[in-house]
Amino acid sequence: MKSETQGVIFNTSDLPSGGYPQGVVLHDIDALMAKSAVEDAHLYLGHEVIIRRRIRPEDGVDRCPICYDPVYDQSNNENCPNCWGTTFDGGFFPPEKSRAIFAELSERIELTKNGLVRVITPRVTMPPTPKVREGDLLVRIGKDGKEKDRFWIKEVESIEIAPSYETVGQRFSVTKIQYGDPGYDIPLE
Ligand SMILES: [Zn+2]
Repeated sequence: MKSETQGVIFNTSDLPSGGYPQGVVLHDIDALMAKSAVEDAHLYLGHEVIIRRRIRPEDGVDRCPICYDPVYDQSNNENCPNCWGTTFDGGFFPPEKSRAIFAELSERIELTKNGLVRVITPRVTMPPTPKVREGDLLVRIGKDGKEKDRFWIKEVESIEIAPSYETVGQRFSVTKIQYGDPGYDIPLE
C-alpha cells in the first residue's frame, strides 16, 4: 500500500536542503499563481476561440481510408473531406474551447491568388490548455457567439516557470486563412 503525505512548499527558500521527504507532493506556488494570473488575463482581455488540433504521426491515429496513398506516403487529395490533406483519419481532434489574446504586430500588403490582400500577422497568447502545435486551426469567435476569423497556428513557444518548469501559458504567431481556402471547410462541431 502506498502512503502519501500532502505537503505545500511555499517558495524556493522553503525547499528542504536534503531534498523532499518521501511522499510529499510538491505544489509550485509560483507556477500556480502565474497560471491563475494567465487564466484571469485571458478571461478579461481575451476572445473566445475554438481550437482544432491537427493529428500528427506521433498521435497513433490510422491513416485516412479515403485519400492516403501508402506508396507515395501522401494524400492524393489535398482537400479530402475526411482528413483535410493531413492523411490521418478525421484530420483534426475534436473542437476544444479556449481563450486567446491577439496583439497585432505587423501588417503588409501581399499579392495572393485572391488578389491584393492585407496580411496581418498577430501574436497570440493562450492559457496552457489545450496545448497547441504548429499547423493547428484556431477560430476566433465574436461577442455574438459567431465565427469571426480562422488562423493557422505557427511556431509555438510555451511559457514555463521555475522551479517546476510547468507550462503556465503559450505564445505563437498565426497566419490568417483566406476566405474560400480549404481551411474554411473544416467543421467546428
Ligand atoms: Zn483523406
